[in-house]
Amino acid sequence: MGSLVDRFGRKITYIRFSVTPRCNFNCDYCSSHTAENDNAEEFTTDDIAFLFSIAGELGIEKVRLTGGEPLLRKDIVNIVSALHDADNIREIVLTTNGYYLSFLAGKLKKAGLTRVNISLDTLREDVFKRITHVDGFRLVEKGIEKSVENKLLPVKINTVLMRGINEEDIVPIAKLTLKYPVIVRFIELMPVKGNNFWKKHYMSFSEALLMIKKVFDVVPAQGGKGEVASYYKIANSSGKVGFITPVSQHFCAQCNRIRITASGKIFPCLFSKEYVSVWDAVKKRDRNALEMLIRKSVDIKPKEHGPIDADDQDFINNMRELGG
Ligand code: SAM
Ligand code: SF4
Repeated sequence: MGSLVDRFGRKITYIRFSVTPRCNFNCDYCSSHTAENDNAEEFTTDDIAFLFSIAGELGIEKVRLTGGEPLLRKDIVNIVSALHDADNIREIVLTTNGYYLSFLAGKLKKAGLTRVNISLDTLREDVFKRITHVDGFRLVEKGIEKSVENKLLPVKINTVLMRGINEEDIVPIAKLTLKYPVIVRFIELMPVKGNNFWKKHYMSFSEALLMIKKVFDVVPAQGGKGEVASYYKIANSSGKVGFITPVSQHFCAQCNRIRITASGKIFPCLFSKEYVSVWDAVKKRDRNALEMLIRKSVDIKPKEHGPIDADDQDFINNMRELGG
């Protein structure tokens, strides 16, 4: 089996794969619906099976299915099965808005999904609707319960921190770790192309941590292997609270991932403008070309991303295409 090591000695073992840029939500902080996203070409299940059989041979061990909304793909259960069949891929995880999860959790588990991350920014139905533009809070809540029931563990809840929007939710969401065996991760808001939201609503993780410390006894906790979050545990809870800090403290030195879009662009970093296209190599089932292109994408991986510049309106091009 091969391995993928970049110019800075980082071993690449993880691919974030955006299976579709389409989405049924329209979250204020994410990229908006565009015709480009809604009509983008997407790899078929067979293409994905081929792509990841080669990626597995090159040393990829973990795949995250993301989007857009990955559960909009009618073949999502087959995609998970195909990844499950690929040699060397040991961990298949999903990041979802949770809307369709209560219907699919059991089938995904049977197909080989290891665990799930669910995005949930508030526990208030009206605020949920304001952020996502969809009346879906109850379905997402059911999706969380079904994921726990189907042992897609540990279930992780991702909450984007937004000043003036969900500060009141920070403590109640952290408190979910007392009710369920879940891991809650608060994510710092990042600026997205054409979206002025960041300047108004960014808040740092340290403010959120302070709010939680005022209410609960918390101690630092261990994260999993290759984790980019720093973790804490609330006394007597069965879960953990983590913070992902792309803005205030980047974690580039530990980065072990590349990103692939549904139309076969490999981005070496979320913030890269440069990408390598594997669309033709996958469609032609050209193993040599595909291997060479995957290696090239690793070779152009930057050492780190520059400081976040909210005035750079292209800072993150297309969150739905890139998968977050
Ligand atoms: N639709 C799925 C979901 O929402 O979980 C998967 C795709 S979404 C782009 C992946 C993750 O990116 C979500 O957890 C979302 O909250 C996060 N995200 C989107 N825009 C963001 C931003 N501007 N800053 C920080 N995180 C963001
Ligand atoms: Fe869709 Fe996820 Fe973006 Fe929200 S964050 S609009 S659910 S892709």
